[in-house]
Amino acid sequence: MVRLRRHKVGYVVLLAVAFVLAMIAGYTALGRQIDADAYDWMFRLRPQPPPATESALLAIDDASLNQLGGIRKIRAMLAEGLERISLVSPKVVAIDLTLVEAGEPEDDRRLEAAMRKTPGLVLAAEMLPGGGGWQEPWEAFRRTAAAVGHVHAAPDELDGINREIPLEKISGRTRHWALSLEAYRLSRGGLRIVESPGEMRVGDMVIPAAREDSRSIFIRYLPSGPDGVPGIPRVSVRDLLRDSSAAERLRGRAVFVGVTAQSAARDRLMTPVASLLPMPGVEIHAHAFETLRTGRFLTSAPNLSVVLACALLVAAAGAMFAFVSGWPAYVLGAALLLAAHAAPFIMFGADTVFPFTAPVSAAWLSVVGAASYQHFVVRRRLVKTEAERARYQQAVHFVTHEMRTPLTAIQGSSELMSRYNLSDDKRKQIAGLIHSESRRLAKMVETFLNVERLSAGQMELRREPFSAPEIVAACAERARPLAEKKQIRLQVGEVVDQTLVGDRELMEYAVYNLINNAIKYSPSETEVTVTGHRQSGLFRLTVRDEGIGMDENEIKNLFQKFYRTRRAIASGESGTGIGLSIVEQIVTHHGGRIEVESEPGKGSRFTLVLPATVTAGTGGREV
Ligand code: ADP
Repeated sequence: MVRLRRHKVGYVVLLAVAFVLAMIAGYTALGRQIDADAYDWMFRLRPQPPPATESALLAIDDASLNQLGGIRKIRAMLAEGLERISLVSPKVVAIDLTLVEAGEPEDDRRLEAAMRKTPGLVLAAEMLPGGGGWQEPWEAFRRTAAAVGHVHAAPDELDGINREIPLEKISGRTRHWALSLEAYRLSRGGLRIVESPGEMRVGDMVIPAAREDSRSIFIRYLPSGPDGVPGIPRVSVRDLLRDSSAAERLRGRAVFVGVTAQSAARDRLMTPVASLLPMPGVEIHAHAFETLRTGRFLTSAPNLSVVLACALLVAAAGAMFAFVSGWPAYVLGAALLLAAHAAPFIMFGADTVFPFTAPVSAAWLSVVGAASYQHFVVRRRLVKTEAERARYQQAVHFVTHEMRTPLTAIQGSSELMSRYNLSDDKRKQIAGLIHSESRRLAKMVETFLNVERLSAGQMELRREPFSAPEIVAACAERARPLAEKKQIRLQVGEVVDQTLVGDRELMEYAVYNLINNAIKYSPSETEVTVTGHRQSGLFRLTVRDEGIGMDENEIKNLFQKFYRTRRAIASGESGTGIGLSIVEQIVTHHGGRIEVESEPGKGSRFTLVLPATVTAGTGGREV
């Protein structure tokens, strides 16, 4: 029972360790990186069907820069582009360029005029490094804009891939909404943004962006179409200025203007979709706009739900291997692993970002841990019962062999008596022999039965007072002939006058066994001493010999049924190896214990430690 409970505690501790390790794994840099990679992978594996986009890019690409005067003429380019766009009534125009100070007066004047004619114009502000405020657009341009938005994407600090965008940025005393959010708000007729700690509302749209996360949202990047056609339609400034029909592709759209030229765009970032080529910032903002517009937000699963899911996985693995055995348990374990791997993927389909590392490592650690624990514990138990069975068989062999001796004697004697006319003396002698041999036989059978009954808990203990010195004397008397035969001095030393309470017969059996063993396992011309004294409320009865002794390992196995030491077998003394296991059970049933000290070749000392509840003479209780 105790062993079973210990097994259970060990199992639960193992599962708890698996859980804690999985949690730790989930929070390490490696775990988070794996989560991020799994996110990208799921992203690519589950592309959304490209919806009809509402945004478009007006790209200042390499061709534009090459043919329209390079980066220095960018304002002139922009001015002309805006003039063209305003003819095709865009919803909004968001410009992802930092126009912080005055440039060439002529270009600036033209640009300012074009901006004034542009409906829903959003300009870009950039945070000063170190968070000391903003680089706002130049005042002349600022006045023409309907809004100013920040242009910071938030690349992952681990791998630099851009998955999220903070919709809010605060620096100094000023806060800016993201360029994409401002563009979205204006494209819906200039709706107000209503904030609460956990989310934001723009008109009917609820954006699950919490204040504590800088109002970050995952960007649902649109996949590229076939042949690399980008998810967001793109018009080059050069084409716009050359060809009036190009402007038609921007009609009625939310136009995001920015540099896409590889040579000039410094805000390019890797994204989950374009894993080879970094994406220009302006395109990222357009994707963020589309995410806001379609309202299909990905949200992170709450931490508590991740912890609970992992705990559930561990508990399920534990239960499977505790209650199911054999291959069905392994099948269930495999199913659990599959579920743990599939869960993030399925959740992703339901727009929830669930981490990968924590649940998957929880499942693996607990399944492997539980399976090996059960495997080894069950195996160990099996090996143990096998060994016990082998020993039992040996003992049965021995017993049947032993029984044959008295049986033969009885058989022979009774035959003698019936066949021949014997003298009275002879008859008495033979009858005496039959009597003693049948008693020996009965004793042997009884011993065997006692073991079985005691271990099955069927044996009843009597509770009667008896005197310790008396049973010691009785046992010594019984053992004396054996001692004399082996020329061993059996000494009963001082035994205090102690009354014990319990089963006298069983206690006598125990004491006799110890004395008997001491004599059996000692050479001649040695001494066996029995003493008894009281010590801190306990009665200690010691049997000491100068015999063959045992080593530490042997002492550990001593009380197992049918165990005999190699030295004992070699000594030629017959035995079954069950006496001590009975002694131990008797003593524990009396609330005591047995102590053994021994050294090979030097001798052994067995001590029965029993509660000395009743003291002889006074009849009172000892404290
Ligand atoms: P048995 O004596 O019938 O073999 P026990 O259960 O009484 O069985 O003892 C188990 C084993 O413990 C013995 O076989 C012997 O190896 C060892 N043992 C017991 N008592 C002694 C002792 N006094 N000295 C050395 N070995 C002992």
